[in-house]
Amino acid sequence: MSEWVSVLAVFWVLWLIDGAKVLSRRVFTFGPGWGLRGGFTFGRVSRPPFAPGGWRINASDVPLALGATGVCNRPAGAAGRPANGDATPQAWRWPEITEVGVAAGWIYVNGRRFCPDTGHVTGPELWAIAQATPAERGRWQAGLLARWFQSRRTAVRQRLLVGRTRVIAGLNTVVLAGAAGLTLYLAGDIAGRVPARAGERLAQVLPWVVLGLALVHATAVVLAWRVLRRLKAVGSEKRRANLFSALLLPPQALRLRALLAEGFFPVQHPLAVALAVGLPRTQAELAFNVVADLRWPVGEEEASPLERAIRVEFRAALAAKVAVELAPAGLTPEGLVVPPSADSAGSRRYCPRCRAQFVAGRTVCPQGVTLERFENPPGDRSSIAKLRQ
Ligand SMILES: [Zn+2]
Repeated sequence: MSEWVSVLAVFWVLWLIDGAKVLSRRVFTFGPGWGLRGGFTFGRVSRPPFAPGGWRINASDVPLALGATGVCNRPAGAAGRPANGDATPQAWRWPEITEVGVAAGWIYVNGRRFCPDTGHVTGPELWAIAQATPAERGRWQAGLLARWFQSRRTAVRQRLLVGRTRVIAGLNTVVLAGAAGLTLYLAGDIAGRVPARAGERLAQVLPWVVLGLALVHATAVVLAWRVLRRLKAVGSEKRRANLFSALLLPPQALRLRALLAEGFFPVQHPLAVALAVGLPRTQAELAFNVVADLRWPVGEEEASPLERAIRVEFRAALAAKVAVELAPAGLTPEGLVVPPSADSAGSRRYCPRCRAQFVAGRTVCPQGVTLERFENPPGDRSSIAKLRQ
């Protein structure tokens, strides 16, 4: 019995850590809803869902800003708080770029480490934009923005993923419940607690239960293998190797829906993913973050004039795109940034970006954003009610 208990202990440890990724930068992990929509986490650890029917979509903020003038490696319109500051700030005019390279997950410009290779713009694309005429560059920028905001396509893919993995998720649930039952039976020494006859019967049935679970496991992996062809990956296909390893190691095969989601969704702006698969509050939170970062950026005073110029151009294009994309969700940039209501009678000013409130004295928030004054005296309930509308 005790060797069975250790086998099960290993099983659960493998299940707990399976699919967890520790990354070098903070990313969004959308999920883990069982249905079509879910919340998100933002951090360097991306955990897959515990539920067998859960899914996961990772999205990284766009690590650069580009405009008619050039390209810089600090993001604008970032959804993450705090946003990633990946490399030493750099800005290049397009004609200055003589070399673009990609190595070990980074894009290099003129031999200097520029930004993480997130897939939003590939190295060859950046090189092509640098070589292009000004008119072509405008088309490039519009094309990239369209590519980063594919909410409709993402929502369609999400429905496909969930629809075509229903049976697989069901089989995963059976194996997970079976493994939990076996663990209770063995670790709780159920056989020793029931009458001797019943204990014997249970001991006889046990191998068949294990065999049955093994068959359900194998069926789920085979079905996932077959469904792969109907859920084509956007980029390179890495899921076959993962499925093969899951076949040999059952604890890795209990989140096949999440496994099949890897590489199935296009690389996008996190806001686009939120609009496609996020809960309404997820959509509102990320939309606010993006709009606030566009309107009240931080760190501008340390930026070079070139970088500032590039970011101004990029922000204008992104803001227009974001306004269009928000509309179907019933959100508007103006509606997102309405002043908060004062949380105490002493509140005199608030930061429009981080929404912190301050009593008299301060005029900028710790991040350097100029504070705004509450228009109506706090404590006047009618004015607060009006602000909340
Ligand atoms: Zn602030």
